[in-house]
Amino acid sequence: MPQQPLSQVPADATWDWQEVGSCREADPELFFHPQNERGLARLRRDRAAKAVCANCNVRIECADYAIRAREPYGVWGGLTEEERERVYVRITLAQFPRQRGEGAIAAAAEISEAVSPGALGVVS
Ligand code: SF4
Repeated sequence: MPQQPLSQVPADATWDWQEVGSCREADPELFFHPQNERGLARLRRDRAAKAVCANCNVRIECADYAIRAREPYGVWGGLTEEERERVYVRITLAQFPRQRGEGAIAAAAEISEAVSPGALGVVS
């Protein structure tokens, strides 16, 4: 398997969307796992973060940035670290999105599924 590039801020990255993200009012510790967090504790924290993202007006911009930047840590746009890793594995380096909007297109299915009732643990 080719070596994946490290996290890298895209040249066209902007941060204005972060000013209106729903997480501004949330506990930042929801979005980043503490060291050695595992199992149910991690699942519950990830789901709580995803629930905040699900109601965020800039979720797509956030997910697009995280995919393009290969953000290694935290929940971004409702996507956990593991969910983003699966996107990185699926996309070849030659296809890897760098321009604004390309991340949202490349990971459209994962971004949609990230805050589905199943992903949030909501039983109907
Ligand atoms: S999608 Fe989630 S992590 Fe991104 S700005 Fe909104 S609430 Fe914050």
